[in-house]
Amino acid sequence: MPSRTRTPNVAAAQWSPNGGALGVTDLTLPNANVFGENVFSIAVQRQRLPKAQFRQLEATVAKGEPLEGSLADAVASAMREWAMERGATHYTHWFQPLTGTTAEKHDSFYGPTGDGNAIAEFSGKELIQGEPDASSFPSGGLRSTFEARGYTAWDPSSPAFILENPNGALLCIPTAFTSWSGEALDNKIPLLRSMDALSRSAVRALGLLGETAQHVYTTVGPEQEYFLIDEQYYFERPDLLITGRTLFGAKPPKGQELDDHYFGSIPERVLACMMETENELAKLGVPIKTRHNEVAPAQYEVAPIFENSNIGSDHQQLTMQIMQNVARRYGLVCLMHEKPFAGVNGSGKHNNWSMGTDTGINLLDPGDTPHENLLFLFFCSAVIKAVNKHQQLLRASVANAGQDHRLGANEAPPAIISIFLGADLEKAFDAIESGSGDAATPQAYLEMGASVLPRLPLAGGDRNRTSPFAFTGNKFEFRALGSSMSLGMPNTILNTIAAQAIDTLSDELEAATNGGSSIEEAVLAIVKSTYTANKAIVFSGDGYSEEWHAEAEKRGLANLAQSPDALPWLIEGSTVEAFEAYNVLSERELHSRYEVAVEQYVTTINIEAETAASIARTMLLPAAIRWLIALKEAGIEKLTAETAGLVDEFVETIFALESVNADENHPEDDHGLDGAKYIQGTVIPAMNAVRDIADKLEKIVPDDLWPLPKYSEILFIK
Ligand code: ADP
Ligand code: MG
Repeated sequence: MPSRTRTPNVAAAQWSPNGGALGVTDLTLPNANVFGENVFSIAVQRQRLPKAQFRQLEATVAKGEPLEGSLADAVASAMREWAMERGATHYTHWFQPLTGTTAEKHDSFYGPTGDGNAIAEFSGKELIQGEPDASSFPSGGLRSTFEARGYTAWDPSSPAFILENPNGALLCIPTAFTSWSGEALDNKIPLLRSMDALSRSAVRALGLLGETAQHVYTTVGPEQEYFLIDEQYYFERPDLLITGRTLFGAKPPKGQELDDHYFGSIPERVLACMMETENELAKLGVPIKTRHNEVAPAQYEVAPIFENSNIGSDHQQLTMQIMQNVARRYGLVCLMHEKPFAGVNGSGKHNNWSMGTDTGINLLDPGDTPHENLLFLFFCSAVIKAVNKHQQLLRASVANAGQDHRLGANEAPPAIISIFLGADLEKAFDAIESGSGDAATPQAYLEMGASVLPRLPLAGGDRNRTSPFAFTGNKFEFRALGSSMSLGMPNTILNTIAAQAIDTLSDELEAATNGGSSIEEAVLAIVKSTYTANKAIVFSGDGYSEEWHAEAEKRGLANLAQSPDALPWLIEGSTVEAFEAYNVLSERELHSRYEVAVEQYVTTINIEAETAASIARTMLLPAAIRWLIALKEAGIEKLTAETAGLVDEFVETIFALESVNADENHPEDDHGLDGAKYIQGTVIPAMNAVRDIADKLEKIVPDDLWPLPKYSEILFIK
């Protein structure tokens, strides 16, 4: 496994190889006094292990070698002692199956001694490798049921931590999850492989550019959107409870139109919940930095300080888990669904991403000197090329059933992938392409002596919330992730396609400098040709507008509106080629991800469709009929006719939904792409038809008869 020594361009206080748990005294976080206290950090390792063994562990991790037996035993014993002092009684290998969540199976530290007693034990073997009963995790065909075994293997580059519970504590050991034949069954292994691939490509490129680095890390800082609602309403809504989103609900009279919620003051109960969440996360070494209200009522956002992609991704899983746990202590429920409420903004996740060297250079920071500018232009061009070439794959990396309500609706980036560079940077690329500076903006193009290179703007330019992939000053922000998603796959894909593009440009650079060009001339020529070839993907305007959809089509950009359109790109030839070339995922491993994603899509919507049919028939239809009877008895003809008409329509749409849900009407390949297409073309429209009538009924049936809490209550009672 790869080594993690330090991350680029962050103050040491904001970063440590152990996820920030080191040297935190000058940390500006409010929770500095508890920061990292539940993390088996490098500092703790140094303190707990004999010096020689600590050094040996560091060296082994740095080289990515397997831990040798006696060292593993020593580390395990130190880890157990530390954990038990902090109240832990059990340990678990904490891993990330393809469902996108985390999984854990708890084992007690105590083992029988043979004389009827028990002693605490935890060996190196148990630390390094586990064998959970993995048969029920999806493997997408990588593991047949007769060979159900999967192994979890310690990832020493992500620190172990303790999860507290009112009645005890649990030592969690971040692990990778593989099949017996070594195929990745999780989201961590491919991410680590992709980080290695990118490092190799970037180190090579840096060498050609006259810069030495041992390692290049990718970094991630996710901005997470979510809803907090009162748990009473949650439990009164079987749709929320079962599917995570409301399948019915008329739009509230006061929606987000007033824009008074965004950055508004945070309600006291919500703030208390956020603060406790942040405190819990601080103990786990997760450096949360910002919190604020989001656009929709009852919607909020949280973001950490960025970390290397592996740790950042582990921390993001932990963050989602802790947010959900802590909310319950405040009588709240934290919704991470991409679209919990129709007609109200959904929740996404902004994946801030960059690459940096172990010498402290952020490769996506334009920098102050011509040399830094040169590096930046080279790597930025590679990203533009990668995103253009693999736009469909990036779209596929963020596809799921929840996202289909969001991407393409006027609230999230569109399903069309494009890059926002900002006015200044776009001007700089245009100037390089045309070979002329822009005299009108001298501050942006200060002449650098004899250098032909314009001075690049430091600021990222305007913010454009409608762009799915935006340059924001010193990083790219991939904004199309869904709020419930693991960072694993999108970052694995970003790293891999960037590695490939960097290598292609390095080949060109090598050829040009061998042919006698100076590095500067060669880079500018490469930037120019790369930009010309890929600028179709660059767009700085309004991504929501109709004109852009038309323009994007003219430019030949892909518009993969929904998951069944996008997911096949996970196994497209260009994907397989890139992923096999960089040893990130084999064709079989890619197929497994594709199959799991398609199956999850189908399963998710099947559950929604059955839940919708059942709520409609057993809760909403009876309420409507009661009202109809009351109207008839009262002899109010006009209202009776109106209600009777809707009830008839409701019955028809419910029957239609029940029929499309019936097994015999589903295609044979029910869990594959045929099943997904059937869902997309037949089941979803049938669900929408039922909802359409239900939402009309909600507006005419008396409140005391309507069995579901309404949006107005759920969203405005805090
Ligand atoms: P915004 O205005 O979008 O909130 P911020 O500067 O607050 O911008 O950054 C948002 C997120 O981007 C934070 O999580 C931050 O840690 C992360 N970020 C900043 N620099 C980098 C980087 N070099 N690599 C990855 N993420 C980064
Ligand atoms: Mg942002």
